[in-house]
Amino acid sequence: MPQPLLTVVDHPLVRHKLSLMRDVGTSTVKFRRLMHEISLLLAYEATRGLPVEEVAVQTPLERGNFPVLAGKKLCLVSILRAGNGILDGMLDLLPSARVGHIGLYRDPHTLAAIEYYLKLPDDLAERDVILVDPMLATGNSAVAAISRLMELNARSIKFVCLVAAPEGVANVHRIFPKVAIVAAALDRGLDEHGYILPGLGDAGDRLFGTK
Ligand code: URA
Repeated sequence: MPQPLLTVVDHPLVRHKLSLMRDVGTSTVKFRRLMHEISLLLAYEATRGLPVEEVAVQTPLERGNFPVLAGKKLCLVSILRAGNGILDGMLDLLPSARVGHIGLYRDPHTLAAIEYYLKLPDDLAERDVILVDPMLATGNSAVAAISRLMELNARSIKFVCLVAAPEGVANVHRIFPKVAIVAAALDRGLDEHGYILPGLGDAGDRLFGTK
């Protein structure tokens, strides 16, 4: 079955936790815990299509064939630094996934994404990538990260975020029409600084308590 290009996960737990994260009064400790919890739920959705194969299992009562993951090679790639908040949660569910990091910062004037760090497994061509960043705002960071992963021949790429703006989704799909996006919410738009409205503010600052 073809994957939808944009999946907004409207599960009540996700919606509830995201609303708490949006609240400006939510502390760093609570924000971090919520991001971890939501990431588990997003990982559940993002891995829905993973293939399974039947293997023989002896239960305490009898022998039978049961499904297990079909050894698909996954790589979680975090866009630094806020992506690490999602990465932590996802690794709880996918402990054997490989991990890559892409450091990008936004030029405050042009909002262009500038790469300052890159560390990825060298067998990316054999791996399905789940790229994570909490905020899909202008889409410039996502496009830069996806371009880099495509250049390195990643087998497939899925982008997972907490909050997406329509501008970011359109930007990614204009350039990469086949990259599926999984988000906890699709918000209204962007302000003049490229922040998502209503959004949740600067995800990195809120996650790490830097402001
Ligand atoms: N990055 C953030 O952390 N928040 C936004 O609203 C947009 C980009």
